[in-house]
Amino acid sequence: MQEQEFDVVVIGGGLVGISLVAALDGSGLRIALVDAAPAPPGPARPADPDLPKDWDVRVYAINPGSERFLTSIGAWPGASDRIAPVLGMRVRGDASGGRIDFDAREAGTAHLACIVESRLLMQALGERLDAMHDLFRWRCAGAQFELEDRRALLHLDNGTVLHARLLVGADGARSWLRAQAGIAASVKPYGQTAVVANFTCAKPHAGLAWQWFRPDGVLALLPLPGRRCSMVWSANAALADELMALDAGQLASRVTQAAGETLGPLEVLTDPAAFPLQLVRVSSLVQPRLALVGDAAHNLHPLAGQGVNLGFQDAQELARVLRDRGACHDVGQHRLLRAYERARREDILAMTLATDGLQRLFGHSAAPLRWIRNGGLTLVDRALPLKRLLIRQALG
Ligand SMILES: Cc1cc2nc3c(=O)[nH]c(=O)nc-3n(C[C@H](O)[C@H](O)[C@H](O)COP(=O)(O)OP(=O)(O)OC[C@H]3O[C@@H](n4cnc5c(N)ncnc54)[C@H](O)[C@@H]3O)c2cc1C
Repeated sequence: MQEQEFDVVVIGGGLVGISLVAALDGSGLRIALVDAAPAPPGPARPADPDLPKDWDVRVYAINPGSERFLTSIGAWPGASDRIAPVLGMRVRGDASGGRIDFDAREAGTAHLACIVESRLLMQALGERLDAMHDLFRWRCAGAQFELEDRRALLHLDNGTVLHARLLVGADGARSWLRAQAGIAASVKPYGQTAVVANFTCAKPHAGLAWQWFRPDGVLALLPLPGRRCSMVWSANAALADELMALDAGQLASRVTQAAGETLGPLEVLTDPAAFPLQLVRVSSLVQPRLALVGDAAHNLHPLAGQGVNLGFQDAQELARVLRDRGACHDVGQHRLLRAYERARREDILAMTLATDGLQRLFGHSAAPLRWIRNGGLTLVDRALPLKRLLIRQALG
């Protein structure tokens, strides 16, 4: 049995876990990264924008705060011809007149967000890790977890045992580490599935992101470079099944129609994929020798496009706390971890309440609620200080 000692072991090599490892580079800490997914087959093939299917169906709206963080750790993707800045947002309610518009210029920023393919982000983060020569990596799953006074023990399913001052759970919404550590998580399925697909559009999108709150879910069209857009339709389960069963032509005309032909006729660029949606709230982000980041710490409805942005902020804050620990040598000390939790609690709560509240408000068919929610959108649109506050929050 092989045993090794580390200061920090991160479990989960998704976007958030990798960003944390990269943010700790040069800290003098001995770091290991463990991920259960098999290694990608060789270096990623350069994406070709002219190949019709060569656009990742998973895209993220990355806010300027996350863009700054990724840039600061040397992991912002350089391929600017594959990144679309969002210059404005147009949100429409489910009754005539309900609307709110956001513009980057009005908010005093170059863009509200950037739409970036998941593959591109993973590639930039992966290259950053490859440059960390003192990083230890395992491609296997955690099998058992033990807590001792001065260290945590992580048994991997290949027989290796890692000793860590601090274990970080970045292992996603169904976090294995969170369950092993007995951190309570409340899971509320939304009864909705996000159907995502990329399209070409006949009309230019002018850098606008569109969102329609509909009786059957929330439809968003996000700008991609050129005359392309990415759809996220958070649809009730029955509609999601129906959308997934359509052929390309039928899906394109269904979405074109649902979007009121805002971008003209659409054509399917990338086959659809489906993601069931849920809300996960955890009782605590930390325990002695353990911290949670990313979806392991909060799993939200994607209607605000903020899940991974919150995760990047977790990673940034945890790295800051660990780096600035002063005379405290032990990175797993509960006092340090509590500082991380205090710094993150408010942001996570605010975003959870906002996304869950909006989902619930628009998920009801009662007529008075419809009046309130649509009137509310228009009111916020006219209340400039409130609108600025919302924009500041979303910029990260
Ligand atoms: C349709 C949709 C659209 C979205 N759009 C946006 C958006 O526009 N903007 C935004 O900010 N967010 C968005 N999100 C949210 C975003 O996808 C998540 O917040 C983000 O992917 C979470 O990243 P993560 O690294 O925390 O977790 P994950 O990506 O889930 O990574 C977890 C990692 O842990 C590994 N792992 C799991 N179990 C183990 C184990 N036992 N041992 C070892 N490794 C393990 C897995 O292999 C994986 O690599 C969207 C979500 C959905 C569903």
